[in-house]
Amino acid sequence: KAQEEGSGHTVIAQKDKLLQSDAVLTLSREIKEGLKNREFKLYFQPIFSSQDLRLAGAEVLLRWKHIEGMRHPGMFIPFAEKSGLIIDIGYYVLEETLRMLTHWNHSGFLPIQLNINLSLRELESIEFMNHLNRVLYQYDIGDSGIKYEITEYASMHNPILTRERLEKLHQMGIKVALDDFGTGYSSFSHLAEFPIDTLKIDKSFVDNMVQDRSKQHIISSITKLGHSLGMNLVAEGIETRDQAKLLQQMGVDLFQGYYFAKPMSQLEFQYLLTHPDEQKITV
Ligand code: C2E
Ligand code: MG
Ligand code: MG
Ligand code: MG
Repeated sequence: KAQEEGSGHTVIAQKDKLLQSDAVLTLSREIKEGLKNREFKLYFQPIFSSQDLRLAGAEVLLRWKHIEGMRHPGMFIPFAEKSGLIIDIGYYVLEETLRMLTHWNHSGFLPIQLNINLSLRELESIEFMNHLNRVLYQYDIGDSGIKYEITEYASMHNPILTRERLEKLHQMGIKVALDDFGTGYSSFSHLAEFPIDTLKIDKSFVDNMVQDRSKQHIISSITKLGHSLGMNLVAEGIETRDQAKLLQQMGVDLFQGYYFAKPMSQLEFQYLLTHPDEQKITV
């Protein structure tokens, strides 16, 4: 009986595998076609200065307008990272971002900083770095700038290579932020050696920070550490006014979160860019 069960399981496992590889092929094909058909859209989540609550920039977050409905990054980025398609997605996001900044520059909008997420595969790909270098020359982004966000976790995969690549990015005039900071086990020595402009305090520290004093201590330590290394500090995932108030008192420089604004379409973000006086946020 045990044997029967065993073989039954094997059959099911094989079927699962087949199904899985089928789904994988479909998703790969859909991503490639989606890129060609421009089904992927850049969304922008505003980032505000904590002192005067002015718009300081935005993080570019990818959305996939699939015929079956809107797909969020969690539904395709991890797969794209595994399959290598993230490189093509990264080229697309970069070009769309530069196109946007050029358009805004030519329209006379105020210069703005856009943050783009960079996966480990992209950071480690020399083709990606060369492509980046070429493409940057083709667009006129004026005084606007781009900043690449790499997770603290990814930065530790190969610290020597990370440092070299981050230096290359700086040589190209691109700034760097460590994303999801506080969750990625980086060491203080690497933090001091990496050329980093910004630390983004992970949402998990901001969640419940009002009730949890130990989270407040962690955030204020990260802020002091970052400042003493010459970096500026962003808190992400701010959902309440009380969180924003505390973060302001702790000296965090920049705010990002649903309390201020959710990721929005290009048109909605352009409205914010061109109507700065209509922002009625309070902390
Ligand atoms: P991330 O870079 O840490 O981006 C922040 C995520 O938190 C975004 O989710 C954003 O919508 C969400 N968020 C921001 N504020 C709040 C808040 O107050 N409350 C809550 N509950 N959530 C908030 P999203 O857009 O689903 O993106 C998820 C992740 O996918 C990103 O995490 C990033 O790692 C990745 N990703 C997104 N776009 C790209 C891309 O173009 N390229 C790459 N390589 N990765 C991307
Ligand atoms: Mg990010
Ligand atoms: Mg983040
Ligand atoms: Mg994150």
